Amino acid sequence: MGLQERIAHVQERIAAVCERSSRSVDEVQVVAVTKYVSLEKTARVLDAGLVHLGENRWQNAREKWEALHDRGVWHFIGHLQTNKVKDVIGKFQYIHSLDRLSLAKELEKKAAELDIRVNVFVQINISGEESKYGLAPEDAPALLQAVQQMPHLNVVGLMTMAPEVDDPEQTRPVFRGLRELRDRLNELKLTEQPMQHLSMGMSGDFEIAVEEGATFVRLGSILVGKEED
Ligand SMILES: *Cc1c(COP(=O)(O)O)cnc(C)c1O
Repeated sequence: MGLQERIAHVQERIAAVCERSSRSVDEVQVVAVTKYVSLEKTARVLDAGLVHLGENRWQNAREKWEALHDRGVWHFIGHLQTNKVKDVIGKFQYIHSLDRLSLAKELEKKAAELDIRVNVFVQINISGEESKYGLAPEDAPALLQAVQQMPHLNVVGLMTMAPEVDDPEQTRPVFRGLRELRDRLNELKLTEQPMQHLSMGMSGDFEIAVEEGATFVRLGSILVGKEED
């Protein structure tokens, strides 16, 4: 399958899920994860009409960002080391991996220096796997409370990664758990605005994630494929 076909195919699948779960397709944004592919292919993703691009390491993103930054909305989806904040700040409109107070403080400091506001997702480890980054759900209120005092950070929602499983259906409790956590946290009114977004769902499980309320799905292999596709 060529790139256009892949994108059309994924969009059809998302539309079908939205249809059967009574959601509007406009509520679901696709973040094309371009970490596996070249600058040329990333340019073709933009040519095909996608605007949200996701990268997980500045080192891999740099060349693409430098050439294409005006054309896309950039999402930093990888684990972010505090000493790498300076590389990504001001370049990525969304950071999906805020998982600790020290990182929030550094983001706030660097965003203040640039006089910008950064959209952040708080990454939650719903599945409880030790190998996963992300905050334990019970630690989320304290982090949100602290971030509320940081005027240059705008918390837009929560992000999670589901475990790798053979049957995507097994991911449902994780995605549902993230949605329920968001709703509970919104009731506590710890953010300036209620959190609207849920960043969840990847190539193997995005349909379940959309059924459970995802507003950003992060799609790499299924959407942009490998370089040679
Ligand atoms: C690589 C990556 C994705 C995309 O993975 P695919 O399975 O190829 O869709 C999504 N989210 C994060 C955080 C990633 O690192």
